[in-house]
Amino acid sequence: MAYKALYRKYRPSTFDEVVGQKSVVTTLLNAVKTGKLAHAYLFCGPRGTGKTTVAKLLAKTINCTSEGERPCGRCANCLEIQESTFPDVIELDAASNNGVDEVREIIEKVKYAPLNGKYKVYIIDEVHMMTSSAFNALLKTLEEPPEYCIFILATTEPHKVLPTIISRCQRFDFKKIDHQVIEGRLKEVCDREGIRCEDEAIALIAELADGGMRDSLSILDQCIAYAQNDITAEKVGEVYGVASLSEKIEMFELVRKKDAARLVDKINDISSRGLDVQRLTMDLLNIAKDGVVYNYCHEESALSVLNGKQAKALSVGFSNSQLLRFVELLVEAQIKYRDASNALTYFEVCLLKMMNADEEPVIREAPRPAREEPARPIPVAVPKATEEPRETAEYVEYSDEKLYEILISANKAIKEQDKASIAGALFASLPFEENRLVELVKGADIMASSPGNIILVVEDRLKANTINEKKNKKKAEELFSSCLGKGKDLYAITGEQQSYMIDYFKAHKYQPAKPAPAPAAEKKEEPSESDEKLINLFGKDGYDVVEE
Ligand SMILES: [Zn+2]
Repeated sequence: MAYKALYRKYRPSTFDEVVGQKSVVTTLLNAVKTGKLAHAYLFCGPRGTGKTTVAKLLAKTINCTSEGERPCGRCANCLEIQESTFPDVIELDAASNNGVDEVREIIEKVKYAPLNGKYKVYIIDEVHMMTSSAFNALLKTLEEPPEYCIFILATTEPHKVLPTIISRCQRFDFKKIDHQVIEGRLKEVCDREGIRCEDEAIALIAELADGGMRDSLSILDQCIAYAQNDITAEKVGEVYGVASLSEKIEMFELVRKKDAARLVDKINDISSRGLDVQRLTMDLLNIAKDGVVYNYCHEESALSVLNGKQAKALSVGFSNSQLLRFVELLVEAQIKYRDASNALTYFEVCLLKMMNADEEPVIREAPRPAREEPARPIPVAVPKATEEPRETAEYVEYSDEKLYEILISANKAIKEQDKASIAGALFASLPFEENRLVELVKGADIMASSPGNIILVVEDRLKANTINEKKNKKKAEELFSSCLGKGKDLYAITGEQQSYMIDYFKAHKYQPAKPAPAPAAEKKEEPSESDEKLINLFGKDGYDVVEE
């Protein structure tokens, strides 16, 4: 037997099976019971919410020949209407038949009494697509329809339907179907089909269907085609390029923990499934918004994506101003996508900024300290203490003095040598699988190299912190030592810190008295030649940057 699409197979055959449109169904059934049928109905509402299904059910109900409950679904009339072969139920898709001729044809046939049934029912879908002359032709018929004639006009865009038409119809508004209702129906269908589908996958499908039952079943169909008998949220995500709600909540959790490493992993993972970055950004925006709303009113009914428990967790994890900042950053990212060839990069930057949203001022491009002003001391790679205990990161602390000490024992020759070794080896063969770490150090510049140390300059503090995290630092050092052929201590700083350290170095005029300096060869240099030392250390370019 040919495969029948789920939405066809599970199209409601009785009014009881129609979900999510209780008031519409109740009103129509009462009209049937009391014999107060209108001659024209207008069914308005989003796609897949049951407009044509209810129209056909109504057509069956009034043409069913059974004595008992109607529609019976078994009599010839019911069956033929179900199969769209009943001569007295005329279905028309105005999206494809919008010409005047078709409507004329209808009008021609209106005068003939029904052949097999009690009523002739005209179901005109997407009625707003009709041309205005077709509309006008229809209007005349609607003014004086024969007793046996019932028109059911369906539309997703009632504002495009002529007011004169609307005024002649009894209007019903079909609502988007609640996620929970769709989920319930999907579970039922899965049970009957013998499909294993995890709850989160069901929830994700309902989310994707956005209130449309038909869409939800079509999506389920596609997921079954892809994942066979075992549908997980992950697989739904793979088919539709979306992240599940729990994945998105997890992203917020990683932001809260400032776990850049795992967050980047997560993004890579999702993007490898062909993720729609814009959609994900919008989804995160809605989650953050729900957090703010929950903070204000503590009402689950006011939330659009999260349930009360999830929103509560979010509002505990973040302050309201943080959540508002997230909204701002995510909106900002969306605007940037418009001109971006690589939206993913903006998305990543946005998430990294979100991690720092609790620390004012917001991290921007490192401002270089003005020459006249005394350089502002910047804590080097030491995380700010927060009330939240840090679960993930343990950073290596080091002071200005420590860096100064390294700078003194460093020189350009070592740096050039290290650079060459690293360029030759580091990225050609990856000595270990920590690609993420390689990514982090790949973009880094070497500020200074001494016999036992390397100072790396990375784009932002987040990256610096990640590299300086104890376990990462160890791995990065292993990585470097495999390239250099010898072990060195690794220190990651930001461009801002680099500028500061250069100033610091100059301010101390290269006085080797304070911290214990290293190689004797370098000690011979005159203190007055600190500029020369700077050039030696950082090269003419690095020095110029500071002097500009
Ligand atoms: Zn019947």
